[in-house]
Amino acid sequence: MGATSPFSTLFGRKKPLFANTDAFPLTDAILEFDDSSDETAIHHHPSRREMDAAGQPRDLASARRWWIASGLIALYFVAMLVFHAMDLVQTRTVFVALALVAVFVPVFAMVFALGLHHRFKEKQLKLPIAAVAYGGLLLICYLDPIMQILMAPFAFVVVAYSMYRVSGRALIALAALLLLGYAVVIAVHYAEQSNDALLRLELAHWLSLAFALPAVILLIGKVQKLHRVLHRASRKIRNIQQDAQRDTLVGCFNRRYTVAALEEQKQLADESGIPLCLAVIDLDHFKRINDELGHLGGDEVLRTFSRVAQDNVRAGDIFGRYGGEEFLLIFPGTSLLPALNTCERIRSHVESHPWTDVLKSRVSVSIGVTQYILGESVLEFFSRADTAMYMAKEGGRNQVVVEEPVSKGDSSIAPLGTEKDFLGTPAP
Ligand code: GH3
Ligand code: MG
Ligand code: MG
Repeated sequence: MGATSPFSTLFGRKKPLFANTDAFPLTDAILEFDDSSDETAIHHHPSRREMDAAGQPRDLASARRWWIASGLIALYFVAMLVFHAMDLVQTRTVFVALALVAVFVPVFAMVFALGLHHRFKEKQLKLPIAAVAYGGLLLICYLDPIMQILMAPFAFVVVAYSMYRVSGRALIALAALLLLGYAVVIAVHYAEQSNDALLRLELAHWLSLAFALPAVILLIGKVQKLHRVLHRASRKIRNIQQDAQRDTLVGCFNRRYTVAALEEQKQLADESGIPLCLAVIDLDHFKRINDELGHLGGDEVLRTFSRVAQDNVRAGDIFGRYGGEEFLLIFPGTSLLPALNTCERIRSHVESHPWTDVLKSRVSVSIGVTQYILGESVLEFFSRADTAMYMAKEGGRNQVVVEEPVSKGDSSIAPLGTEKDFLGTPAP
């Protein structure tokens, strides 16, 4: 990527701006930080990295959430079992805790598996999960007062777990309910045991939680705010990056992006030896179209052509506007015959497109296509496709011409072959 080729110098750019396959490292990093990235994926175009992984990141994010939740529950159990080993916690309490997990984890797992969570506004159901966790903590504290030691730290853990999804207000309401429930547990303990020492200890615990929990929620609110700002910024960056790649008139990739992609694909081909093809596409007699329809009409023709071309390329192909009424089509990992077939498909679809009466039989394209020869420069590669395109013009336009690649040892470029060589039918 780093080398400056004659091609990039010629085209006015010193070095490629970004890798074709990894265009959004910064925004990807921010969105990875974003706990809610699986929802935002619906609103933003998936990044190349996301697309490359064919949906895997979403599964991974969901699996990661389950691992985190399971880890937190396991942590609580480890602490409880240590207390149990110290004879501070009864076996019954451990079983009750296990029963809670055995009931609620499958319930939530089922809700997610059946997709029922999509019916709720807050799709990750963090508030109900946090509420169940608080209920469980209170029940365990009721059964074994010593477990209050774990109440505060795990109440903070639950707040942290739900911080990206649950609003500050909901968290405060949940914390108030927890404190209320905790007060009820203390009252019940006292009513059952009339133990003044326990009451004082429990009240001290209650007070410490009552002071610390709002402070934690306040700090979490700040983190939430920062998270929102980062998320908005990441969207803006993504939009800017996408705009920077797009041609403002027709919406396909622009020259800068396409040239960078061509350079990158050349290097990939050099490294891997996989074939690479390039087509130069030029609209025929476009000046006349402009003269008749005006520039705005001409612009509309360019847009329609771009749409037709993009409808006829395969997913991995890179179609971009080189300038004016000239376009490049890069075929990564493609040999000459399939590349030629795609070019011919584009040519015939442009020809047969239901253009308006005034444009009927007047819009066509001339296409030159060639295959990359390992080790040649991007400039040589491009020039060969460009030469083929001019030969298509000389041959009468509305046709595809192939420059067959000839390995570097040969002194001359192979004579032009027309599509007849490959398709068996001459261009109309
Ligand atoms: P040929 O078949 O030999 O390619 O003929 P041509 O008329 O297409 O080629 P020429 O290079 O003579 O003219 C290209 C025209 O494309 C001239 C220019 O005004 C027009 N053009 C370039 N960019 C745009 C654009 O963005 N919008 C419009 N409407 N016209 C454009
Ligand atoms: Mg032209
Ligand atoms: Mg031209």
